[in-house]
Amino acid sequence: AKKQGRNRYFWFENAMESELRYRSEMEVGVRQGIARGEFVPYYQPQVDMGTGRVLGFEMLARWHSPVFGVVEPDAFIPIAEEIGVIAELSEGLIARALEDARGWDPSLTLSVNISPVQLRDPWFAQKLLKLLTASTFPANRLEIEITETCLHQNVAMVSTLITSLKNQGISVSLDDFGTGYSSLSQLRKLPFDRIKIDRSFVTALPRDDDSQTIVSTIAALGAGLGMPITAEGVEDEAVLAQLAQIGSFRAQGYHFGRPVDAAKTRDLLAAQGLL
Ligand code: C2E
Ligand code: CA
Ligand code: CA
Ligand code: CA
Repeated sequence: AKKQGRNRYFWFENAMESELRYRSEMEVGVRQGIARGEFVPYYQPQVDMGTGRVLGFEMLARWHSPVFGVVEPDAFIPIAEEIGVIAELSEGLIARALEDARGWDPSLTLSVNISPVQLRDPWFAQKLLKLLTASTFPANRLEIEITETCLHQNVAMVSTLITSLKNQGISVSLDDFGTGYSSLSQLRKLPFDRIKIDRSFVTALPRDDDSQTIVSTIAALGAGLGMPITAEGVEDEAVLAQLAQIGSFRAQGYHFGRPVDAAKTRDLLAAQGLL
């Protein structure tokens, strides 16, 4: 029994060691990856549910790592936040995205995700304006997505930021709505342009009555507050049909297209006469 306990101890130590090694390799990789330009913007179309017309794209970051392969953001954004490089990473991606989007049809919008860490930077709005100026991409075609969990921060601060972005013509939307326990009074105080319903509710629509109630309620709330809705996670025809019972929204999901790189995005736009 004593021997077994010792083995278990070694097993535990090894598991911890490899976990730590993975972490530190990821940290080094993220730093190097930024310097080497390994982080690339992918784009997922957002369409008008009624007509199927492309209205814009959400930029979703990917890491083309020589060690780890193509890495999705949930694996590297938290690390970039923790080691203090998220602003640098994000600004580089936004600069590239603005450059890519400059070649798209002028009717199309570009949405980008912003980390709570960046929202706390008092110079964030200024930095964004500098990127816009450098790219000559029009501010009124840029949308910033802020996740609902950001509202746990100082509401006054977030409100000031939204107002200053809006004064520059940039739209601001509330992302992942329904998951972050924000209160309705917070929502009323914050001048969002748009609400994105979290994809967990949308994906479940065909199977789950509660999700239908939640999506209908969010749609009514958005209509009441004058905030149009984007539904993300429209994976198939069944979800789309259920959604159409509730209303007509801006929609995003695998049914319309997965996130793809800049070149494939151009192909998609060329096929629709939107270049
Ligand atoms: P998000 O903002 O909620 O983005 C939507 C996520 O849902 C994306 O995952 C997208 O690929 C995925 N998705 C889209 N359509 C469907 C669908 O029909 N079904 C399913 N099951 N999933 C779908 P992704 O690309 O892995 O990004 C994950 C999260 O990482 C994003 O969630 C966003 O919060 C964050 N993120 C991505 N890029 C950036 C970035 O540049 N900066 C920051 N701070 N966060 C980012
Ligand atoms: Ca988003
Ligand atoms: Ca979302
Ligand atoms: Ca999400």
